[in-house]
Amino acid sequence: MSLKLLRRIVNTFSFRLNLWYALIFTASASVLFVVFYLLLIIGLGRKDQEFIDDRLKEYADIYRSGGPRALGLWVSSPNEKQKSLFVRIIYPQGNDRLLSVPETWIEVDPTKYRVGWLRLQQGVLRIPKDEEQELVLGSIPLHDGSMLQVGRSTNNRETLLQPFRRIVIGVLTPIILIGVFGGALFVYRALRPVQQIVATARSIIETGDLNARVPARDSDDELDELARLFNLMLDKNQALIKSMRESLDNVAHDLRTPMTRLRGIAEMALRGKPDQRSSQEALADCVEESDRVLTMLKTLMDVAEAEAGVMKLVRESTDVASLLQDVVELYQYVAEEKKVSVSLDAPEKCEAVLDASRMRQVFANLLDNAIKYTPEGGEVRIHARRAPSAIAVQFHDNGIGIPPEEQGRIWDRLYRGDKSRSQRGLGLGLSLVKAIVQAHKGKVEVQSEPGQGSVFTVTIPAEARAT
Ligand code: ADP
Repeated sequence: MSLKLLRRIVNTFSFRLNLWYALIFTASASVLFVVFYLLLIIGLGRKDQEFIDDRLKEYADIYRSGGPRALGLWVSSPNEKQKSLFVRIIYPQGNDRLLSVPETWIEVDPTKYRVGWLRLQQGVLRIPKDEEQELVLGSIPLHDGSMLQVGRSTNNRETLLQPFRRIVIGVLTPIILIGVFGGALFVYRALRPVQQIVATARSIIETGDLNARVPARDSDDELDELARLFNLMLDKNQALIKSMRESLDNVAHDLRTPMTRLRGIAEMALRGKPDQRSSQEALADCVEESDRVLTMLKTLMDVAEAEAGVMKLVRESTDVASLLQDVVELYQYVAEEKKVSVSLDAPEKCEAVLDASRMRQVFANLLDNAIKYTPEGGEVRIHARRAPSAIAVQFHDNGIGIPPEEQGRIWDRLYRGDKSRSQRGLGLGLSLVKAIVQAHKGKVEVQSEPGQGSVFTVTIPAEARAT
């Protein structure tokens, strides 16, 4: 394995998580063993002390009743010898009498040894074979002023603790292995969704295929939620990119027509005889086409501004009824031309705080569409209603209507219904309407029946605040 690859693995989050898991697991197990070991030592120590205390009491009683001789006989009886105890009496004069020494203890030169209580005056000293070994000692004053001392080596503790230590060391190795491999399995399972998200993102970046998604899992945890949200974000981005591409295609397509026409008119004028009348006509046509392009670009920018939430609204208290009246008058001529009757029904006082010129654009677009998509002899009715907190304006027509499958898309930029292509239009009117209404924190809805007509309803909060 190369050093670079090793460094990469060590730097991964999975590796670190695995290491932490193994460390914590092993440390917890070790702490548990240590605590258990200490408790065992304390328990054994206490038991030894209790044993010594019992012996001291028992021997003191024997001493009281029979003196040192009786005690000497007692401790050298086979039963007591088995207990392998160190027993001595220390007299006030400083000399002492050794009654019993465990058989396993060895004799040493007392001049070379000084082992606390065991420093004996008798010429020979016996100490436990293992000098390091600890002694449990206890003493009790006797009735004649001397001191009885009983001791025993902690050897019996070791016989219990040593196998325990061996077992612990033996068990700790599999525990560390369980920690490492269990940790690896745990980390792999826990981070699987994250790895899938990374793999999906990488595949999208590398291949450019936006269809890649994180595979669904059946759990309901946070990582699953993250994967779901990631997929949802990809869906939204994909839809956005698709609509942006479509918009761009549409803009390119819709700009090409007037630009080609503009070029055609100018070319014809250049090729023809240079007379003032035809040149003026050509220029007028050019101005008209340029206006069309400019209108389209301006509307696109308005929609983009409103959708981005940066459209500036100049809000003022406005009489919606007279605003509607203005718009109706503006379209009177177009309606008459098309023999479509337009009626307005609005309450006398119908005031709201809104941007009048933007709202005029909304009403004009809706009325324009209603007249445009209503055949000759049809009728358009406008109703305005004032509720305490909102103004609602409806545009009814008995025109061609909108098929249900198109109703969700008519608000998209540059979208034009199938049956509407014969009519003039840029496919931007309703997206601008929706953007302006939403900038006023209002909403616009449509109800329509193909062949029967449509109703567009705009609802604006009376105290609409600018966004
Ligand atoms: P345009 O009218 O320029 O095509 P709009 O954004 O104003 O663009 O409208 C989008 C589409 O919604 C239209 O192409 C048309 O199919 C449909 N539409 C809008 N208003 C009406 C209406 N009153 N009746 C029937 N169809 C309509």
